Amino acid sequence: MKINKNCPNHPDNDNLITCSLCEVEFCEACLYEVDGLICCKPHYKQYLEGQWVPIKKVFCSNDENSEGLILMDKKKKLWSLKNIPTFFTHQYSLSKESGDPLSFVTFFCLSHDLERVKSFISQ
Ligand SMILES: [Zn+2]
Ligand SMILES: [Zn+2]
Repeated sequence: MKINKNCPNHPDNDNLITCSLCEVEFCEACLYEVDGLICCKPHYKQYLEGQWVPIKKVFCSNDENSEGLILMDKKKKLWSLKNIPTFFTHQYSLSKESGDPLSFVTFFCLSHDLERVKSFISQ
């Protein structure tokens, strides 16, 4: 299987960045930056117009079984299986005990998807 590494809208552009909502890769000409998120055109509009609610805040580490990574996998499935857009915001802080940097992600979805997303991520 050939993996398409060029922008779906600009076949000559191969410097691709992932949309924060749908995880599809586009070139810079197709993307908009808003509140630290990178959005493709339809999702930029949806981000601005939608009513987004936080579902969950989780600690993130590089441990394969961390809640954050599991949630990111669920996020991809929500979009690919159910067409439900969601996104993460990242926060960093320092551990009070050790002074180590900690990374948290907050998971958001549209308010009308909340119940479906909650039941999906609790599976
Ligand atoms: Zn998108
Ligand atoms: Zn493009």
